[in-house]
Amino acid sequence: MIDWQTPFEQVLDDSKLPFARWFVGGKTNLCHNAVDRHLKDRPDQKALVYLSTETGKEGSYTFRELHAEVNRVAAMIQDLGVAKGDRVIIYMPMVPEAVIAMLACARIGAVHSVVFGGFAANSLATRIDDAKPRLMITADAGMRGGKQINYKPLVDEALSLSKHPPEKVLLFNRGLDRDMAVQAGRDMDWETLRARHMDARVEPVWLESSEPSYILYTSGTTGKPKGVQRDTGGYAVALAASMKHIYTGQAGETMFTSSDIGWVVGHSYIVYGPLLAGMTTIVYEGLPIRPDPGIWWKIVQDNQVNIMFTSPTAVRVLKKQPPEFLHKYDVSSLRSLYLAGEPLDEPTARWIAEALQVNIIDNYWQTETGWPILSSVPAVEDLPRKFGSPGFAAYGFDIKLLDERSGEEVAVNEKGVLTAVPPLPPGCLSTVWGDDTRFVNTYFSNFENVLVYSTFDWATKDEDGYYFILGRTDDVINVAGHRLGTREIEEAVSAHPNIAEVAVVGVHDEVKGQAVIAFAVVKDASKVATSEAMAQMQKEVMATVDKELGAIARPARVCFVTLLPKTRSGKLLRRSIQALAEGREAGDLTTLDDPTALEQIKAAVAAWKSGK
Ligand code: ATP
Ligand code: MG
Repeated sequence: MIDWQTPFEQVLDDSKLPFARWFVGGKTNLCHNAVDRHLKDRPDQKALVYLSTETGKEGSYTFRELHAEVNRVAAMIQDLGVAKGDRVIIYMPMVPEAVIAMLACARIGAVHSVVFGGFAANSLATRIDDAKPRLMITADAGMRGGKQINYKPLVDEALSLSKHPPEKVLLFNRGLDRDMAVQAGRDMDWETLRARHMDARVEPVWLESSEPSYILYTSGTTGKPKGVQRDTGGYAVALAASMKHIYTGQAGETMFTSSDIGWVVGHSYIVYGPLLAGMTTIVYEGLPIRPDPGIWWKIVQDNQVNIMFTSPTAVRVLKKQPPEFLHKYDVSSLRSLYLAGEPLDEPTARWIAEALQVNIIDNYWQTETGWPILSSVPAVEDLPRKFGSPGFAAYGFDIKLLDERSGEEVAVNEKGVLTAVPPLPPGCLSTVWGDDTRFVNTYFSNFENVLVYSTFDWATKDEDGYYFILGRTDDVINVAGHRLGTREIEEAVSAHPNIAEVAVVGVHDEVKGQAVIAFAVVKDASKVATSEAMAQMQKEVMATVDKELGAIARPARVCFVTLLPKTRSGKLLRRSIQALAEGREAGDLTTLDDPTALEQIKAAVAAWKSGK
């Protein structure tokens, strides 16, 4: 299913668990397998279709055209000094050039690190300092819902904050930001460089299977985001296999994944998966409801999409729209819709299954694993699906549900931490970038007596072997499919000079999955003495979060209290706060230090609910 330039000598080296090396000694290249390999059989088939309902631009590349373009960009970045092993940060909107930049990096053995274009300067700077890139590739601006976000000022700020700024910035100018500042000598214009390399041919650089292909940062619950390091050979094999067994995609067919290249779903199922499989992939910049809620189904009809992949949040958004848009277009080409990233609730699953009359397949996985841990595997055995369950352990994962304390396996229908016995299968993270110790300590040191990978999610397994995900053992808020660490948002809120302390929780939200609510203690009480002052303070806190983290992390409400509920050991009782904010009982309070703190949370929630 993939080409090896040099065959591997050993399938697995598990002599240093939890570190595992797959296909040892084999040499391959992701770009060759995603692009060049198809030149023989399908040169004139569309490889990449792009459209933007934000700018009105659309078009496509055949495999031959994609090959030519990737070669040009590979030559451009080589010219800018990038070589094998160098990191390149890609901070771009959903334009085809972003995908081409990723493939160009892979072609020359450079390690790309795509940062979601929506993160604020601070978040970008942290990632720059960790990856220490040789080059940064960006664009003048992105667009979302008709609103322009200028990227370049954010990039300039991030570079000035960074301790390891790259020497060069490759700038793709979409002509959106006419006042963009350019720094001579550092900022290089994409079009100008491209014109010099129109006929470029750059041979793929063959990497040993375990050499890194990319770094992708998780959302960073623990403050500092973890750089998930992906290998090359294992990832190629895992994705090619998943395209066949899980996603049932055939060469020549079309896949539409409505994610962003900044997330793992985008890496695996907008870029590498479909292209490795010889499929046409769709790169869409825009919302599911603009210009109208039929836009996705129009894309399906126009491109004869066979396989679709999206998030439960997006489906919930569509569910609120007038139903006629679902029947306006011919979606008969569509076989299956895959959903991942957050729990798929039963009403949403039923609604979309009935509306589209296609297979609805929930899969559960993580940035770390790169492809599904739990899923139906329809091409191997098409077992019936149960709504609310992502199915079974995918081949290659030895899954165990363990009791949090004893590390023993739990009984049927009992809640345990979802873990995997190493070696993790091909495609999963090989380590945390630059920090092997953190890899072991974070993921493999949660149980005293057993060496297992912890997902940090709770799950149960029923008598028929179906798994159900119950939530996270750590605290992450999921706003419209964007995962935000509570800790990270708390740090951002605390950046406001008048905030002494804060607890951030996610509360259930019909549309977005969860909304961010902050409970803050101020340093100077006079600043929240009147309702006007409180409103002003709330505004300032929101603006601080926008600046520190980006608008996606902005709290929907900031409540002011004088005390936060904590355990006697000083740990925030976040679970109780969240329960109260969602109108439930506070739960087990045996360790609560000062009960008046809970009264304050209750009062703040009541004031908020009554619209005060
Ligand atoms: P961080 O590790 O920095 O905290 P994150 O875990 O939020 O970030 P991802 O790797 O993108 O970032 O998300 C993986 C998590 O998403 C899973 O651990 C799980 O909690 C949730 N998840 C993914 N798919 C599903 C699903 N099908 N059903 C339920 N939950 C899911
Ligand atoms: Mg995680």
